[in-house]
Amino acid sequence: MPADYHIHTEASLDAKGSMEEYIRKAKQKKLGEIGFSEHIILHNIEGHPYTPYTPIKSSYLQNFLNLKANAELFVKLGAEVDFIPKVTEKIGIFLREFPFDYVIGAVHFIDNWSVDSPSQMHEYSKRNVLKVYEEYFSLVKRLCRSRLFDILAHPDLIKIFGFKPKTDFSHILGEAAETMAKYNVCAEINTSGLRRPCQEIYPSEQFLKILHSHNVAVVFGSDAHEPNDVGRNFTQAVKLAKKVGYTKTCVFNQRRRDFVKI
Ligand SMILES: [Zn+2]
Ligand SMILES: [Zn+2]
Repeated sequence: MPADYHIHTEASLDAKGSMEEYIRKAKQKKLGEIGFSEHIILHNIEGHPYTPYTPIKSSYLQNFLNLKANAELFVKLGAEVDFIPKVTEKIGIFLREFPFDYVIGAVHFIDNWSVDSPSQMHEYSKRNVLKVYEEYFSLVKRLCRSRLFDILAHPDLIKIFGFKPKTDFSHILGEAAETMAKYNVCAEINTSGLRRPCQEIYPSEQFLKILHSHNVAVVFGSDAHEPNDVGRNFTQAVKLAKKVGYTKTCVFNQRRRDFVKI
């Protein structure tokens, strides 16, 4: 099984389980490598349940380092950082403070709209869905151009509630893939979409094919919010990756990537 690089512990507020519990579960599931990627939001967004700033405290880091030294699998330090254009500089300063192995960038917000919150799903019916996709992927491209991130989280999160443009939007996906390739940003094959109304891995097979044709590298993530989620549906994710032609995945150490076979 490939590494699971998208794991939230109780430090993420919306998740359950300690790092120890995740490591235990990962070993049971025979994963060779995992990475913790807590939510980091460096901007106060009105009405959003997360705290504006989730610092990774020194106790967290110390605990991580102790566990890493003693775990019988590779354990990496990552983060899932919200890309919010106006705080780009702040993100850069924050990332330099911690010894991350990799940094995942995510677009969860279009302005103040939290696009993956069930309580704000009604926005999709009010807006032009093609325009929404354009806005979402324009933020994805800005995320890449910021050069702050190694990995793009759940690349087509915007499909979460099953809203898709009625007309062909492959050009939007193509441009996003081109930008990811240009700035060396990996795509995350994230299985949490299977647990959402869209009932589909992020990215879709169509998008993953496009990413592969642009030589965009991939990593895998369960987006675990509790220990049982670790490595969830990875067999299906690997199958999808292989189906579109991937034979390798990335592993990260101190923000340098290597390729390993899948
Ligand atoms: Zn996310
Ligand atoms: Zn996440």
